[in-house]
Amino acid sequence: MKQVKNYIRRKTLIYKTAVEYGDYTVNHVQGCSHACQYPCYAYLIAKRFAKVSNEAEWIEPALVENALDIIDKEIPKLRDKITSLHLCFTTDPFMYGYNEIANMSIEIIKRMNNNGIKCSALTKGVLPIRLAELSKDNEYGITLISLNEDFREKIEPGAAPYIDRINGLKELHKKGCKTWISIEPYPTPNIIEQDFNDILETVSFVDKIIFGRTNYNPIVTKYKGAKEYYNKLSRQVIEFCSSRNIEYHIKDGTLRE
Ligand code: SF4
Repeated sequence: MKQVKNYIRRKTLIYKTAVEYGDYTVNHVQGCSHACQYPCYAYLIAKRFAKVSNEAEWIEPALVENALDIIDKEIPKLRDKITSLHLCFTTDPFMYGYNEIANMSIEIIKRMNNNGIKCSALTKGVLPIRLAELSKDNEYGITLISLNEDFREKIEPGAAPYIDRINGLKELHKKGCKTWISIEPYPTPNIIEQDFNDILETVSFVDKIIFGRTNYNPIVTKYKGAKEYYNKLSRQVIEFCSSRNIEYHIKDGTLRE
C-alpha cells in the first residue's frame, strides 16, 4: 500500500464538465501516480497552469483534505441540476495502491447516492468490490487499451496490471453492477501491433464501450493511415456492440468519414 504524502485544500469541487460524455464531475486529488505516457492531458494542463512544475511532482498525488466538507455544502445547491457525477477527469479515483484515495472516492459516491445522484467512475487502478454495496444506478469503468503487460509497463507504469483491472470490473459485473470500458487513447500500429478483437472479446461482459483515438502524440501523427485505421476500428466497435446489445460511444474525431 502507498501513503498519500501531500494534502491540499480547495474552496469548490463539483463542477460542470465540457467533456463530451460528462455531466458534472469532481476531482478530489491533484496529480496521479499512474504516470501515463500517452501523454497525460491532465498533466499537460496542470503544468500549463503552474499547478505542478514537472512530472515528478505530478505523480505524487495531493489529496483535497476538505473534499467531503465542500461536497456536503455543494450538494444542496446543485442537487437538482446534476444528472450524474463522474469521478474523475483530471486524476484517478482508485489510484493503484492508495487506499486513502479509494476510501474518499467511495465516501463521495455514497454522499451523492444518498442525495439521489448516480455516479460513474473510471480508473486504471482496481475497482473495490465494496462498490457493489452502493446504488446499482452507478456505472463503474476501467481504461483498457491493450492486454500486453510489457506495453502497460511502458505506457502506464504506475497503473494496475491489466488482468487485475479486468478482474475487479468482472467481479462488480457479477454482483449486478453496471460496467463499462474506455478503450482510449487507442494506439496506432506504429506504437504497438495488437489484435483489437482480443480486447473486445475480453471485455464483452460490459454494458458499454467507449472508443477513442490517441491525440497529442507525434508518433500517432506520423502514422500515415491513422484516419483509415481509426475508422476501421470504430466500425468494428459498432458492429461488435450492436451484435451483442452493448451500448457504445465513439469519441469525437475518432470516426471521420
Ligand atoms: S490515469 Fe489519467 S490522470 Fe492518471 S496519469 Fe493516466 S491519464 Fe493522467
